[in-house]
Amino acid sequence: MKQLHEKISLEGRVLSEEVLKVDSFLNHQIDPGLMQAIGEEFSRRFKNDRITKILTIESSGIAPSVMAGLIMGIPVVFARKRASLTLTEGLISAEVKSFTKQTVNTISVSGDYITADDRLLIIDDFLANGQAALGLLDIADQAGASVAGVGIVIEKGFQPGGRLLRSQGVRVESLAIIDSLADGKAVFREEAET
Ligand code: 5GP
Repeated sequence: MKQLHEKISLEGRVLSEEVLKVDSFLNHQIDPGLMQAIGEEFSRRFKNDRITKILTIESSGIAPSVMAGLIMGIPVVFARKRASLTLTEGLISAEVKSFTKQTVNTISVSGDYITADDRLLIIDDFLANGQAALGLLDIADQAGASVAGVGIVIEKGFQPGGRLLRSQGVRVESLAIIDSLADGKAVFREEAET
């Protein structure tokens, strides 16, 4: 997605050969116009898949998911990373090892909002080792919901998550795939340009 590539090139900061910082438009400050374009692109790619709901994870998956949900006309459910006073019954949970914080979180959604009647699109901001996506797939599986695919804003193609998910037969649609962060520069995989 050209607009996203340009934004990453212009504003992304390569923190190391492993980590890209995009706090100016996705992870801290949010660019609503870009989020809308991202939502439109996810909607275009999954428009024939009879999606009933989007499943994402707080907090950075929420902005692109809400835009996709708005355009597709479907609700968005986000998995919580922290225990909630009001969310205590009928929880579906999974363990996720955090890429950025190197901790293990229990993520949870209420069984009221993801059910066996749902066909889900899972969305997240980054794909690195695939742990967050696997946790969301686990939650979908426990709820008996089917999953049409995983939509990712930025996939780091040199880390194993994308290969892992695709080898399990999961359809992964990434709007930007970065093949390298060497020498302080993001190098994009051209196939991601559609
Ligand atoms: P995974 O679970 O695929 O290993 O990592 C994905 C999660 O880790 C995403 O939800 C994202 O929050 C975070 N993440 C992974 N790599 C990066 C990165 O390079 N930059 C930022 N900002 N977040 C990342």
